[in-house]
Amino acid sequence: MSLLGLQAFRARILHFTDMPDAVTQAGVEYFEDGVLLLENGRVKKVASAQAFADDGFDLRECEHFPEHLIMPGFIDSHVHYPQTDVIASYGNQLLDWLNQFTFPTELQFAEPEFAAIAAEQFLQLLLENGTTTAMVYTTVFAQSTEAFFSAAAKKNLRMIAGKVMMDRNAPAGLLDTPESSEHDNRQIIERWHQQGRLHYALTPRFAPTSSPEQLAVTGKLYRDYSDLYLQTHLSENHQEIAWIKQLFPNARDYLDVYDSFGLLGPRSIFGHGIHLSDVELNRLAETQSGIAFCPTSNLFLGSGLLDVARIEAAKIPLSIATDVGGGTSFSLLRTLAEAYKILQLQGQKLHPLKGLYMATLGNARALHLDSHIGNFAPGKEADFVVLNLSPTPLQLSRHKKTSCLADTLFALMTLGDEHNIARTYIMGKLAFSRSARAQGDLQWLI
Ligand SMILES: [Zn+2]
Repeated sequence: MSLLGLQAFRARILHFTDMPDAVTQAGVEYFEDGVLLLENGRVKKVASAQAFADDGFDLRECEHFPEHLIMPGFIDSHVHYPQTDVIASYGNQLLDWLNQFTFPTELQFAEPEFAAIAAEQFLQLLLENGTTTAMVYTTVFAQSTEAFFSAAAKKNLRMIAGKVMMDRNAPAGLLDTPESSEHDNRQIIERWHQQGRLHYALTPRFAPTSSPEQLAVTGKLYRDYSDLYLQTHLSENHQEIAWIKQLFPNARDYLDVYDSFGLLGPRSIFGHGIHLSDVELNRLAETQSGIAFCPTSNLFLGSGLLDVARIEAAKIPLSIATDVGGGTSFSLLRTLAEAYKILQLQGQKLHPLKGLYMATLGNARALHLDSHIGNFAPGKEADFVVLNLSPTPLQLSRHKKTSCLADTLFALMTLGDEHNIARTYIMGKLAFSRSARAQGDLQWLI
């Protein structure tokens, strides 16, 4: 089979064709015993094992994962690769947390070798957590962005990333200038944007650390290249919002700072957006700019509870993200569990089908990557995970008592984490195996 470029995997299989309807199951495709057939790293067909057998397919050709669940790889719409070691740092809210933990750590990424090792470790952690695509902040150092793209290219990952732009209100060693950031951005864009599976995102950290001149350069770059992304932070913390008022006294509100430099649009993803006014909400909707919902980060940094129903009612594209190192886990499953609780506190609900849709096709759509990834439609790139539904005694006990698919998935979403990821595949190629890890293959760990 492999001579023909074909691979077949048999397990429970779940993916989404559209935003799921929990009642009618529209948008949900689930096979209790299914086969995922790939050709040259892309999906050729997904159907029940019975349907494959009826077509004369020999099921013995499949790699069989009984009791496991195959799903498309998870997508993280907002994460910081230099902050892996900042995770779980005690005691502060956003602005103090940046100064005390993040900025000193990011200074180390001036060293290309350090950045290369950190990029490799970060990508391994994503794969271990079943995350196959992410929208990633690097640091202000162009060499750290180069290191990230090199590592992602080597693993053939579909990734979006960008060099952080920051020319004020941070330690001197972490500052660029409008001129140097324009120069560096152009070089990196020309080298990496749309190369293989890679995409570039302009990445001003957030308005307080960029001068108006640098934001103007960002707008110019956004217009100069097609299909660039833009990522930054927005309205995360009350102190931050008060600071914006001081720094940009002429702006109508926080979002208007970005708007006035031409930074809004369907390929712009704003992290957080917790404390937005109706005017800001309407403007995001008008421009179809996206919000990245970062539940573990919002709780950990005490930033606030995103009113998801309000964002959705305004028809703003919404994605879900870990925001490590403000976030406390690389796992999208853990992230969904915290999202559920944030919604509960506001009298809202997150059905597991919707949660898992968000982590796959929903995020692919929000990032305009759904023509490549997000589900098992024929022709899509076969990035997928093999999930163990009961890796711990507690999960096994709970799993035995589940009564239907939604119940099984809710237990997975609530109790699950990286231990549920048995394997991760990138375009049909095994990229992470937990059993190999368990046997002591820890070489990737630095
Ligand atoms: Zn962030």
